[in-house]
Amino acid sequence: MPNKITLIPGDGIGPEVIYATKDIIDKSGADIDWEILNAGMCVMDEYKTPLPDEVIDSIKKNKVALKGPITTPVGSGFRSVNVGLRQKLNLYANIRPIKSYEGIDTLHKNVDFVIVRENTEGLYIGIEHKVGDEACESIKIITKKASDRIVKFAFELAKKENRKKVTATHKANIMKLSDGLFLKCAKDIAKDYDIEFEDVIVDAMSMKLVMNPQNYDVVVAPNLYGDILSDMSSGLIGGLGMAPGANIGEDIAVFEPVHGSAPDIAGKNLANPISCILTGVMMLKYIGENEAALKVESALEKVFKQKDKLTKDLGGPLGTKEFAQAVIENM
Ligand code: NAD
Repeated sequence: MPNKITLIPGDGIGPEVIYATKDIIDKSGADIDWEILNAGMCVMDEYKTPLPDEVIDSIKKNKVALKGPITTPVGSGFRSVNVGLRQKLNLYANIRPIKSYEGIDTLHKNVDFVIVRENTEGLYIGIEHKVGDEACESIKIITKKASDRIVKFAFELAKKENRKKVTATHKANIMKLSDGLFLKCAKDIAKDYDIEFEDVIVDAMSMKLVMNPQNYDVVVAPNLYGDILSDMSSGLIGGLGMAPGANIGEDIAVFEPVHGSAPDIAGKNLANPISCILTGVMMLKYIGENEAALKVESALEKVFKQKDKLTKDLGGPLGTKEFAQAVIENM
């Protein structure tokens, strides 16, 4: 029986990187039956909502989705589909591996850590209101349940991937109650594991990650810090085109690259599909298609070592489609 997977191309560069990834996965030997549905700006006219029920129903039924980025209007307009999906499907853990590869010009070599971001609460809960005409309040929610769950996830991931250290990052010196609770949960859960644990305040963490990223293995963070640190960390390994991601819940997983819909380069065959292809590799491993995952990953590694086979953002000459073709030829 093939694995049935919901495929959501998304907005902007989404369809370009998603179909490049689909082509590669289809040629990797993985047995997948794609159910293609869309969400985002591109369906607003037809459905009057960026997140049609049939998309949620398909993910609930298939349990696994591969999703392209979706545009969110800034300042006004509809609420983020990405945040909505994560909350509706209770995709509580956002996993963002940050790894440098030989052949890709990066600020640092031998970088290999994973950011585990809490995905359902914090400032992303979206409770905001005006206070009179000249002030606004945005509510940050931190709960013991979600903090325990995400820290446990980080330690279990460290155990599974044989990683040596978990670092919790926070701002508990200033937000003594909310981040204080997150930190207390992290310290308590850490006692159950025989894995090194430390905590670092998020501003110092940003500097430390930029200076010595090799010192980190698993970094666990509340929602906003995890989001910012993961985009920043992608800059250590070649940029947003190099950073894959996964949103994991109890029994549902939605895989999506870290980057957004990049309207500045959409439709020009300029998007780097590597983050999406690596996201596809994470998905293949999750569904047990390990052989296909290895095949795609090692083809990527072969292509990375050929300077004339990289996309423009990485200093090469290739477009999205030509890069995907190069991966297929090296598979
Ligand atoms: P972005 O990630 O789309 O782009 C930031 C910069 O990185 C741009 O210069 C872009 O050209 C470049 N870039 C991003 N991905 C690239 C790739 N694969 N190859 C080459 N260059 C790449 O961030 P943004 O411009 O702040 O956001 C654009 C839209 O995407 C917004 O509407 C935002 O809400 C949305 N967004 C969606 C998601 C998601 O769906 N998960 C995540 C982040 C942002």
